[in-house]
Amino acid sequence: MSAVATKKVRNLVLVFGDQLDPDAGVFKDFDPKKDAVWMAEVDHESTYVWSHKQRIALFLSAMRHFRDELSARGIKVHYRELGDKANSGKLSTELEHALETLKPEKVHFTRPGEWRILRGCEKVLQTTDTSYQLFEDTHFFTAPADFDEHAEGRKSLRMEFFYRELRKKTGILMDEDGKPVGGEWNFDKENRGSFGKGGPPVETAGPVSEPDEITAEVLRLVEDHFPKHPGSLKHFRWPVTRRAALHALNDFVKHRLPDFGTYQDAMWTDAPWLYHAWLGSSLNLKLLNPREVVSAAEAAYHEGHAPLPAVEGFIRQILGWREYVRGVYWKFMPDYLERNSLGADAALPDFYWTGDTEYACLKQTIGQTLEYGYAHHIQRLMVTGLYALLLGVNPKAVHEWYLAVYVDAVEWVELPNVLGMSQYADGGVMASKPYAATGKYIQRMSNYCAKCPKNPAKRTGEDACPFTTLYWDFLLRNEKPLRRNQRMSLQVRNIDRIDEAERSEIRAAAAKLKGA
Ligand code: FAD
Ligand code: SF4
Repeated sequence: MSAVATKKVRNLVLVFGDQLDPDAGVFKDFDPKKDAVWMAEVDHESTYVWSHKQRIALFLSAMRHFRDELSARGIKVHYRELGDKANSGKLSTELEHALETLKPEKVHFTRPGEWRILRGCEKVLQTTDTSYQLFEDTHFFTAPADFDEHAEGRKSLRMEFFYRELRKKTGILMDEDGKPVGGEWNFDKENRGSFGKGGPPVETAGPVSEPDEITAEVLRLVEDHFPKHPGSLKHFRWPVTRRAALHALNDFVKHRLPDFGTYQDAMWTDAPWLYHAWLGSSLNLKLLNPREVVSAAEAAYHEGHAPLPAVEGFIRQILGWREYVRGVYWKFMPDYLERNSLGADAALPDFYWTGDTEYACLKQTIGQTLEYGYAHHIQRLMVTGLYALLLGVNPKAVHEWYLAVYVDAVEWVELPNVLGMSQYADGGVMASKPYAATGKYIQRMSNYCAKCPKNPAKRTGEDACPFTTLYWDFLLRNEKPLRRNQRMSLQVRNIDRIDEAERSEIRAAAAKLKGA
């Protein structure tokens, strides 16, 4: 620990790497004369899933900037650095040590972003007989209890209903008569455009936060400490301070929000950023508050800068999906993590860690993930997620990969998206049916197939697209449970047209892919 306690601490505020806001609720009655903050960088948080170097660097650099900001405000921060000799490498051990040394009267902390951390901290606090108070995270529009209330008595949960409730409660994109602005709740149908042959109309490279001294030091530390971890640090670009995050927000609203809606689902070769916000990591580390992000988008609509379908589409991601997945996470954890409704047990292909594959869509998506720690929603859902679903990869292995490789990955948001939305392992809590599709979906939404040796229209044969082969194998393999799902009935009925000889061919081709 960099500082030795000289006098007894009244309230010790624990701050984790994704809670970097000095105005958070937990600081409300903070008295710098009596209280102090505790933060720790520990090895285990970067190794329990094999984290991407940029994800590690982002958290460490943002934490160090936050420490310095608090210190500049006259707040005492007890901070354990990764390189400190006495660092045990485990959060719980470090916390025990801090409690022993500082002997605070009470510990205050905000609900962490992971069930594991919450239980781990509570265990330490209880076994050391430390009095503590858990604060709800005010960086969300809703608390887990609001979601529980919404879920009470409902047979099935759907994001759209929760979203509408929140629109009404907050007044966001609502008119004076309590009706949705523009007369519709949802403009999703207008948000499925793909690029024409020419590709994205403008270059969307966006702002890059050049590494300052702190970040440069962290990048060296990560390279030294985690040399074998996946990904590259070469193009580290993520905001690590609130100031940089605000700059990124303004840049998005000004340059990309107007086209966000139309091209939300589109993909293009060598174009990782497109019209997306790249704000996930800033929101999840709490450098930005979702209220200010939503307000900025809403203002852009009222000022005539961005059309309603784009603004509604963007706000739905934050006010709708982001709040909804958090509700699902806290309602169903910890057993949610163990769900595997389709009994998927295949291993994750090795190329997920290297990008070394001939399949153009996977090569592009995994390649940019390793380069930047980023892929946009449709790449995550309909390329890497879809392939794992169709292949039948064990959902926990898929979850661990996603948690490791994206800079915005924190379990409360990553897990329901991966295990629920993309792998259908929760049996329909997040999605009413599996997001299963052939390679033709990818062909429609991108230009990847044009540069691929495989043919998305073919399900068997030398040049068959693996997505298309595996799609039919997925339907054959899961025929029974899928027939019970009304929303899948049309899709499943198509297998009735495949004769036994071709079924065997599909199964053999799929088995070959599974062995790859
Ligand atoms: P944009 O596409 O510009 O969207 C704007 C914002 O909306 C995002 O920053 C995010 O805060 C929010 N948002 C959009 N979609 C979702 C969603 N489905 N759930 C929650 N919030 C959403 N998001 C994460 O923040 N962390 C994750 O670890 C994560 N893992 C995912 C894994 C899978 C398999 C899938 C399908 C989605 C995942 N998402 C995750 C959701 C989404 O893909 C990312 O939030 C988004 O790609 C981040 O990039 P962006 O800021 O450019 O987002
Ligand atoms: Fe991907 Fe299949 Fe298209 Fe190749 S043909 S890019 S594998 S969808």
